[in-house]
Amino acid sequence: MEVLVPEYYPFFRCKIGRCRLACCEGWPVTFSMREYFRLLSLECSPELKRRLDAALHRTARPTEEEYGQLLPGFDGRCPMRLADGRCALQAEEGESALPDVCRIYPRGLRPGEACCANSCEAVIELLEREEPLRFVKMALEVPCPPSARVCTFETCGREMEIRLWLIALLQDRSAPLPERLARIGAALADMDEALRRKDAAAVERLLSGEERPSRPGPLPPAGKGLPAVRLLLERLDDLSDSVRQWGEAALARFDREGPIGAEAADRRLREISSIWEAWMENILVNHIFFAQFPFQDRPVSLRDETIALWAVYALLRFLAVGAGDGTRERFVDTAAALFRLVDHTAFDRYAVPILKGFLPEDRLAEMLTV
Ligand code: SF4
Repeated sequence: MEVLVPEYYPFFRCKIGRCRLACCEGWPVTFSMREYFRLLSLECSPELKRRLDAALHRTARPTEEEYGQLLPGFDGRCPMRLADGRCALQAEEGESALPDVCRIYPRGLRPGEACCANSCEAVIELLEREEPLRFVKMALEVPCPPSARVCTFETCGREMEIRLWLIALLQDRSAPLPERLARIGAALADMDEALRRKDAAAVERLLSGEERPSRPGPLPPAGKGLPAVRLLLERLDDLSDSVRQWGEAALARFDREGPIGAEAADRRLREISSIWEAWMENILVNHIFFAQFPFQDRPVSLRDETIALWAVYALLRFLAVGAGDGTRERFVDTAAALFRLVDHTAFDRYAVPILKGFLPEDRLAEMLTV
């Protein structure tokens, strides 16, 4: 099957036992009824059987697709993990014995495309590169049928082209990253209008560059967005285990040291990586592609998707500066933790109302100045 993938895709390798925070930690891994009964009746060693019996449960509301789960232990670890970090199921029975979700993660397979999620630390590490992330067509053997997203939006049949057009705006390095994100907001508003009118010619004019998208107004001074991001983190603290540790560390540091200027923040980011801005750009581009931004499978408006994207950038920078210790590893850990929240929950549905309740509509871009 020929699919469009980010160019790092064939180079992704799971770190297995070397992962600082493995993807299976901290939450139940859910799978289908078919996989539940397959695991329940697996013929294997008594030791593996004991582990499976302790870990395998039915979900609270079983459906055919989400029927079984491997529940984490009291320490948050998946009970199938061996002391050396490997999965006991995979170690004894091979990769084919794993539930699909464990076999595929962090890959997201969809008809005609595939990508890896930023919630995996190995993916964040692959994105540390000066060059903009490119996308290539390649033949892929897929381990299970790709799942199609149910899109309820008008796209004039140009969903992928619109996504790549937005990615190109984000990769236009003639402006700093916050400004590029603001430009995406203005361009997406134009596109939204054309799509609502079902005006295929206007969509084509925007995509082809014949019509230049609107430009946003100037961003407010640096630091203006701090209160909004702070509020968002405080609220997310109640909702998310994955960012709690880093969010609290960042908030405590800002309380201790007071707000720091944009230059001091950039200096901290340069300690992490001399190419931090390109790295963040690549992370956001990967997020846009993976999340199929801006067309969700839930009814969230394109404007709200823009606000959610701005919030992702603001949190990424806030955590990198506030919870960072100047090492690449810490940045990778905070970024992967953030995307566990963003990619695996309906982040847009709860983050955007929090922000809209705090800032008037015409000031939401302040978040980009964090
Ligand atoms: S987070 Fe990524 S690298 Fe770590 S165990 Fe999971 S797939 Fe492997």
